[in-house]
Amino acid sequence: MGTFKAIRIDKAEKGTTAALTQFDEAELMDGDVTVRVEWSTLNYKDGLAVTGKAPVVRRFPMIAGIDFAGTVEQSSHPEWKAGDKVVCNGWGMGETHLGSYAEKARVKGDWLVRLPDGISARDAMAIGTAGYTAMLSVLALEKHGLIPKSGPIVVTGAAGGVGSVATAVLSKLGYHVIASTGRMSEADYLRGLGAAEVIDRAELSGPAKPLAKERWAGGIDSVGSTTLANLLSMTKYGGAIAACGLAGGMDLPSTVTPFILRGVCLLGIDSVMCPLPQRKLAWSRLASDLDRGKLADITHEIGLNEVVDAGAKILAGQVRGRIVVKIL
Ligand code: NDP
Repeated sequence: MGTFKAIRIDKAEKGTTAALTQFDEAELMDGDVTVRVEWSTLNYKDGLAVTGKAPVVRRFPMIAGIDFAGTVEQSSHPEWKAGDKVVCNGWGMGETHLGSYAEKARVKGDWLVRLPDGISARDAMAIGTAGYTAMLSVLALEKHGLIPKSGPIVVTGAAGGVGSVATAVLSKLGYHVIASTGRMSEADYLRGLGAAEVIDRAELSGPAKPLAKERWAGGIDSVGSTTLANLLSMTKYGGAIAACGLAGGMDLPSTVTPFILRGVCLLGIDSVMCPLPQRKLAWSRLASDLDRGKLADITHEIGLNEVVDAGAKILAGQVRGRIVVKIL
């Protein structure tokens, strides 16, 4: 057994340290599939893990990184054989299970999804957990019964990873997308992704009224806090908001009024423990409903040695779209 390159997180006297180093293959955790990781990506949670800004990592040493795409090297799982192209999101990777910023990963075969036809390993990580979460949110709104004719859909944190993919997918599906951003300088970028309107997030960040003028049939919120409260209070009768993030805060200073007077629904989205059938559906819908040209436009590539710096930038809200990390 040898060693491989990885971003290792260790506990320090104060907080944690993150460094690109050699990791011993013998230290890989249990799993029935070993994957040669080709691409990973930078998500908000990765930023928290590599900077140590929140206690995302719950085992030491840890390899950071919550998602990967690559090729199966070895497998004792009946579904997988050497050479299969796979994608893996969440399941505690980078938190309780050794993660994806590494040339090798050992995981449970039950965690893996086959790369859909037409999606390369790089594309899959350009989408990443952020994009797959955006699609889970779209699926939740559809399950609620929303269609383009229902009315506009608001997307918050629109210039970020979840928001950019959500904007691109919803506009391809024919929705009137209202993109909310704190970076009005990115208005042209958001219109390029298909946003019909771009609004300043300041409109949605103050204290929310119990009910406000009805503005949208639904929404995808990656911000939380007062923003989510405002989204709920401005949702049309019978509409729904898919809540998937907390970039603006973990609290939810709202009232029950939108629920009991307008029948509004709050749909919770979790990508980490999401069951396999839903994952497969999300990935197959990403293959058909995300314009690959737009995906290329929102994607920026970095190397493993740049991940720690980029992690600080994503937390500061300075990353536009998606960052893909080249591993091999
Ligand atoms: P990004 O940093 O790429 O995007 C977040 C965006 O939110 C920023 O680009 C910015 O958009 C906006 N934002 C940042 N800070 C604030 C603030 N203080 N107030 C209001 N808006 C803010 O992150 P991701 O897209 O990768 O993730 C977004 C959120 O979704 C995170 O909270 C993440 O943890 C969560 N998430 C949850 C998942 C789940 O399973 N539920 C899976 C993946 C992500 P703009 O500049 O346009 O305003």
